[in-house]
Amino acid sequence: MGDQDLLDCVIIGAGPAGLTAAIYLARFRRRFVVIESGGSRAAWIPRSRNHPGFPEGVNGKALLSRMRKQAEKYGTDIRTGRVERLVPLKSGFRIETGDETFRARKVILATGVIDNAPEIPGLERGVEKGLVRICPICDGYEVTGCSVGVIGRDDHCAREAIFIRTWSSDVTFIHVGAEPLPKALAADLHKAGVDIIESAVPAVEIQKRRITAFDFGGGREAQLRRRLLRARRHAARPTRRPGGRQA
Ligand SMILES: Cc1cc2nc3c(=O)[nH]c(=O)nc-3n(C[C@H](O)[C@H](O)[C@H](O)COP(=O)(O)OP(=O)(O)OC[C@H]3O[C@@H](n4cnc5c(N)ncnc54)[C@H](O)[C@@H]3O)c2cc1C
Repeated sequence: MGDQDLLDCVIIGAGPAGLTAAIYLARFRRRFVVIESGGSRAAWIPRSRNHPGFPEGVNGKALLSRMRKQAEKYGTDIRTGRVERLVPLKSGFRIETGDETFRARKVILATGVIDNAPEIPGLERGVEKGLVRICPICDGYEVTGCSVGVIGRDDHCAREAIFIRTWSSDVTFIHVGAEPLPKALAADLHKAGVDIIESAVPAVEIQKRRITAFDFGGGREAQLRRRLLRARRHAARPTRRPGGRQA
């Protein structure tokens, strides 16, 4: 490989971050490629309502497609592949996918994060339908006045349940952690007016545009139906946040 093969940059990932970088680099007339393995979290967004410039909201796949089109308009080369290895060289990097090898002065890691969601049957379908939300920053507004269940297994999730009180007076933290909730944390939740349920969630039941039940097993579903499922029709649906990382 000669110096003529040395790229200015390789961007790993073609989610919103990688494509934004690509639009800029293409317009700066840099020599670069984008390598994308497929699986942007943005593709899961049924409709984002907090993205500036889209007053009616925007679907995640549509957003990605528009961004990709914009990057390609300026000549961006987007390859499909998974970067398996990054090798630092004296000057720059060697970037290896299963099929191809590149050399570049710089690498932009735009690989995003992976959600660490609890394995609950029905949850994925809930996300697709916009009934299960991942991010209180993006979606808190959508649950204004709704009954909200926040599923989580740690301190961070409990704090997010408290944060959701910004929009709703009816918030329940559903603690699915293996360890009992620390007393001090439970006290903070109570003080903030957040109810607590300590139970695993074997399944989520969806009816039309609502989550109508959590299956807590042992006949507890009916008991919870009232508390958690009072979502108003005009507002977005009950939200819960699978425990783990977020954007
Ligand atoms: C259900 C849901 C709803 C959301 N709603 C909103 C919202 O309303 N508003 C908002 O602002 N945000 C929202 N988000 C968050 C938003 O999707 C992320 O913030 C955004 O996708 C992050 O962009 P990114 O480019 O950093 O990462 P990603 O979009 O995850 O893109 C990273 C890309 O890197 C690729 N990649 C990773 N490793 C490699 C590798 N080794 N080789 C090649 N490619 C690789 C992946 O395939 C992926 O395509 C939501 C997320 C989810 C899941």
